[in-house]
Amino acid sequence: MESHTDTIIEKTESHFFPVFNRSPLVVDKASGCLVWDVDGKEYIDLTSGWGVTTLGHSYPVLIQVISEQLGLCMQAPNCNLSYTIPQAEASELLCEISPPELTRVFFTNCGSEAVEGAIKLARRAKNKPGFIACRNGFHGRTLGAASITGQERYRAPFEPLLPGMKFVEFGSCAAIEAAIDEETAAIIVEPIQGEGGVIVPPAGYLNGLRKIAHRHDILLIFDEIQTGIGRTGKMFGANHEGVTPDILLLGKCLGGGIPVGAIVITEDVAATIEKGDHGGTFAGNPIACAAVVSVIRELLAHRILEHCQKAGDIVINSLREIQHSTAEKIVDIRGRGLLIGCELSSDELASAISNQCLEQGVIINVVHGKVIRIFPALNVDLSLLEKGMQTIANIMGSSLLSEDT
Ligand SMILES: *Cc1c(COP(=O)(O)O)cnc(C)c1O
Repeated sequence: MESHTDTIIEKTESHFFPVFNRSPLVVDKASGCLVWDVDGKEYIDLTSGWGVTTLGHSYPVLIQVISEQLGLCMQAPNCNLSYTIPQAEASELLCEISPPELTRVFFTNCGSEAVEGAIKLARRAKNKPGFIACRNGFHGRTLGAASITGQERYRAPFEPLLPGMKFVEFGSCAAIEAAIDEETAAIIVEPIQGEGGVIVPPAGYLNGLRKIAHRHDILLIFDEIQTGIGRTGKMFGANHEGVTPDILLLGKCLGGGIPVGAIVITEDVAATIEKGDHGGTFAGNPIACAAVVSVIRELLAHRILEHCQKAGDIVINSLREIQHSTAEKIVDIRGRGLLIGCELSSDELASAISNQCLEQGVIINVVHGKVIRIFPALNVDLSLLEKGMQTIANIMGSSLLSEDT
């Protein structure tokens, strides 16, 4: 008899766009950092659903809050031409946890849509079309976001994209400053490049960018869609340098699993907005906003950012141990909090390890070909995390792997 797994895979592969290179995992249910497939096999999820399930899968408080809101109102009558309690609370709370200069928010349905909004805002505020972004960066899949994404494979097939975009080396303030011209409206960077392979810029970079943006009277946009809402052990990635952008972009962790993103801006940027400039049928939807409130309150109430730092240390330390015993396989270990990259010596090795991890019940992510990205829920159970890391250690240390690759 054909297994349930095969049927689901076949249905998906026959009908869904053929854009993903999926692994043969058919999810049945998930709880915390555990996931079960349709055959009942258990896995440890070290990816938090791609940096999304902030509090783990099926977090009871989140489920309760969302369920209550579902029963109250899923979509406001006349949409954003009325007010809702969740939108008011989410807006206030997000401004409260953001640096004091950031005073206004707009909620989106995803990260890319936050990036799109930022492009419009910056063009409107500065009345100029140009952006400076970084090579190897990632800002999303929509056309505007692809236009400022500094990786050929996301851009080339879809040219022509938005004009006026320049790409410079990540981590160099001098390169950014040299690229500024009279058409430049804004600089956009990730505080840590996520999809680019978990690249941490040199200390002082974000601060340097802040000064450059002020000096040239252009906007500084931080794409914290991956680094924001506690992922790096602080509420925002730029908090490690105490730097405040003019426009802060959020997504992924913000909804704890519910699709939502946000744009948070200064009063100066807000002053340039005119009624009708932007909108969205689902923007600030009550379900999404209820999730945002719940995620942020839980993070604060249970000191989850501290836990995240501690868990991050466990991951880094165990990767270092693996590196000692398998010196040539691990080229670099980097990251902050629970956004950790482990660069391997080859793409083949990375995919072999990730396949074996899956077989042995641990879900990891490979980004940029050969970087294993470990980014579990911020409240990950430490003994589960250690168990997962032990499995990775065993696989990387196994003679089988060294013979094969
Ligand atoms: C994931 C990501 C995006 C895109 O977000 P989507 O929700 O997938 O549209 C943009 N920027 C960064 C830094 C991201 O990590």
